[in-house]
Amino acid sequence: MAAPLPLPACHATHAGIWIAEAGGEPREATRGEAIARAAETPHILLNAPLVGQRLGYPEISGLDLLELFAFIHPARFAVPTPAGLSRALGLEPPASDADAAAALGRIASALLGTLTGPAWPEREGAWTANATLQRLGWGWAGLIGARLERPERGERMLFARLKQWEEAPERPPPRTVVVSDADARERLAGLTGAIAEPREGQKAMAAAVADIFAPRAKGGSPNMLLAEAGTGIGKTLAYLAPASLWAERAAGTVWVSTFTKALQRQLDAEGARIVPEPAERARRIVVRKGRENYLCLLNLEDAMQGAFAGRAAILAQLAGRWAAYSRDGDMVGGDLPGWLPSLFRRAGAAALTDRRGECVYAGCPHYRRCFIERAERAGREADLVIANHALVMVNAARGRPDAPTRILFDEGHHLFDAADSTFSIALGGQEAIELRRWIVGPEGRSRGRRRGLAARLMDVASYDEEGARALEAAVEAARALPSDGWLQRLAEGAPFGPIEALLAEVRGTVYARAKAQEAGYGLETELAEPDGALVEAAAGALVALDALQKPLAALGRRLEAVLEDAPDWLDSAARARVEGAINGLSWRREALAAWIALLGRVGGSADPDFVDWLAIERVEGREYDVAIHRHWLDPTRPLAQAVLEPAHGVLVTSATLRGSEDWTTAEARTGAVHLPGPVQHFETPSPFDYQQATEVLIVTDIGRNDMAALAGAYARLIEAAGGGTLGLFTAIQRLKAVHARIADRLARAGLPLFAQHVDPIDAGTLVDMFRDDPHASLLGTDALRDGVDVPGDSLRLVVMERVPWPRPTVLHAARRLAYGGSAYDDRAIRARLAQAFGRLIRRQGDRGVFVILSAAMPSRLLSAFPPGVRISRVPLEVAIDRVTERLGEQSVGECVAQPVAQVDQPIDID
Ligand code: SF4
Repeated sequence: MAAPLPLPACHATHAGIWIAEAGGEPREATRGEAIARAAETPHILLNAPLVGQRLGYPEISGLDLLELFAFIHPARFAVPTPAGLSRALGLEPPASDADAAAALGRIASALLGTLTGPAWPEREGAWTANATLQRLGWGWAGLIGARLERPERGERMLFARLKQWEEAPERPPPRTVVVSDADARERLAGLTGAIAEPREGQKAMAAAVADIFAPRAKGGSPNMLLAEAGTGIGKTLAYLAPASLWAERAAGTVWVSTFTKALQRQLDAEGARIVPEPAERARRIVVRKGRENYLCLLNLEDAMQGAFAGRAAILAQLAGRWAAYSRDGDMVGGDLPGWLPSLFRRAGAAALTDRRGECVYAGCPHYRRCFIERAERAGREADLVIANHALVMVNAARGRPDAPTRILFDEGHHLFDAADSTFSIALGGQEAIELRRWIVGPEGRSRGRRRGLAARLMDVASYDEEGARALEAAVEAARALPSDGWLQRLAEGAPFGPIEALLAEVRGTVYARAKAQEAGYGLETELAEPDGALVEAAAGALVALDALQKPLAALGRRLEAVLEDAPDWLDSAARARVEGAINGLSWRREALAAWIALLGRVGGSADPDFVDWLAIERVEGREYDVAIHRHWLDPTRPLAQAVLEPAHGVLVTSATLRGSEDWTTAEARTGAVHLPGPVQHFETPSPFDYQQATEVLIVTDIGRNDMAALAGAYARLIEAAGGGTLGLFTAIQRLKAVHARIADRLARAGLPLFAQHVDPIDAGTLVDMFRDDPHASLLGTDALRDGVDVPGDSLRLVVMERVPWPRPTVLHAARRLAYGGSAYDDRAIRARLAQAFGRLIRRQGDRGVFVILSAAMPSRLLSAFPPGVRISRVPLEVAIDRVTERLGEQSVGECVAQPVAQVDQPIDID
């Protein structure tokens, strides 16, 4: 074992604070002592923002083990806890909180010991990065520098170490082939062979999906299948089998689209069955995301060369280490540890991506190594592209050449919501300032090499007079858009320019009319009966936007002309830059046109296809944005038109696609209803024995607004289950209040409690921490209801605090009115309940209890649960007994469904 470091360590949880002196026994400490000591001597910590929160001293600094791990093993997965890091390094996990303090020293020694060992795959680049980090005052740099040998030859620059992509000729259209039912079943048997016999439902689904790959009979009418496949039938392999076969035979690409990152990761892992050889797999199965997810190397270079200062500069260096070892440069849900950006309190991570669409394409020195360009090209050549609903829709809507023609939408119950946000528009301060920056360039104190449109198109402007005039006029007109400090000016009643003046009126109207949803959070009101000042401000803004639209349109035309004329200076780099500008211009002009149409309607009659409203975005009382929103009343109409009609084959599948409704609802929610031809339906039930493995308890004696009783119920249920609980809330305020009351009590009983919106950690990492410790519990809101895939014992109890009624927003009210009133609400709630219940049983042998802490749960909604599951209305005491019987501590790890004592009669389900 490595020698202990001569440094103390501090470990803080809700159960207490422990300090371990170098080589000494850990001991408990008070908050005051820990803070005073940390101010005097740097301590080894694990996740400084979290420790700071536990100590009530957010400014705490020290030697954070997570930063050291990110430096030594960039792009490697580790759960950010003492046990998680121990496991990642092959050390024994600590047995108690006190031991965890001592473990921090052991982890640090093991990590630093790696530097002197011969087998360290991530050695290249470490010396150079550490030398810079030392200049930046990074705490670990001295300790690393003392152990790291200077390389004999100078290290290659980071950017030189990245792989270049190759240009390839355009792929011919896919061949016309068929995949027969028998072929699909045979391929499925080959894929599942090593693990299990395919099940009947799985085989039937593979055969049904094969049909969507048949040649399309009529333009505008894809072969479309809606398939409800119960959890556990193995639906991913059921559709991947015919899809992979078609892709091979037709030399075409199938896009598999998901809603959650969890499923995207799972699909990526399933790829090993289809193409076992890693290098070939990387070529044939490609993960694609929106460009704002990827590291932009030009931004990274700027950040590493001085655009970032202080802690953000340290983050840039660690991101640079990661970039050299990353599989694909995906910063959000890829191999960049999700916990890394939050150690820097979000300083800078977002600025390393290409969020503002300022890419200079071939004008960029890193173009040939760019992760985004690489992913796009790889996707064109791949058999399978694993993407998400938003990207599929955006590519289709913008008419991109790589828009998919064979699409498998998994998690299809989210299609409606994904279309709702993709095809919506918002004319707000944040969007408008982004447009201004894209045209005018960064202003004020911004550093870096980002440039506005004029600088990016300087060569065009000097060659083409008309283009130069259009460019100049566009830059001038863009100055009417909001600029830095606009929110402050709105708050002070001193807006500058016509768009800020409009937003000031919007803000005033919202404050005058809106009903607060939850203290400190978003406010909104419908765009109806606007007063004179708002109408006048909208007219002024419309003139300003129109004045911008015209020169942008002229510029677009001139750029097209330049490409056609192809002057001498238009080498391939310049051509790519001009093409990039045309692309960027085209969708920004579309957005501008939509804004103009929206403003034209302020004060006039409403368009029945749309729902318009005014909103102020706030988080904990702080305003972030002010905007006018427009959503389609039925967003599946543009979905059908832009995505489904041009496609040849489409599958929409989910475990809860139809639920307890008939297929008409599923057809309406997926856009199938807007297609000219018929669509096929398929369904196969889950093989799980829900009756045996689960039950639903509705607790009847918790008062609606009795926070103490609610918190007490959570604590006692979690204790009864021995942890392993997912607590779902419909309001952040109540989540925080419950967490504050019970976290210490549970921690002292050895039951850690993590919470979204409380712990300074991203949701994905919280789920990893929860999954890693079967005694841990997790509290969260909507995102966790759908995105948590935790098979086995780590998740055995789901507790919902209330019936998940839809939030009474303007949009919801409009759709409720249009689509059936309370029946519309009921459908939404049933879908949410089914999704939440679906978290419990992920694989054969799982078991669990689902508790709702609200007597107001209407019986008519209980058809959301699988048929035969016992549902009981019981007092809390009985619920606790029942949870103890089924899930008590002694049974953790057994994974066997327990027989249930009959306490009361199951209620009728209507
Ligand atoms: S090509 Fe664009 S996105 Fe890629 S590194 Fe360069 S500027 Fe960034």
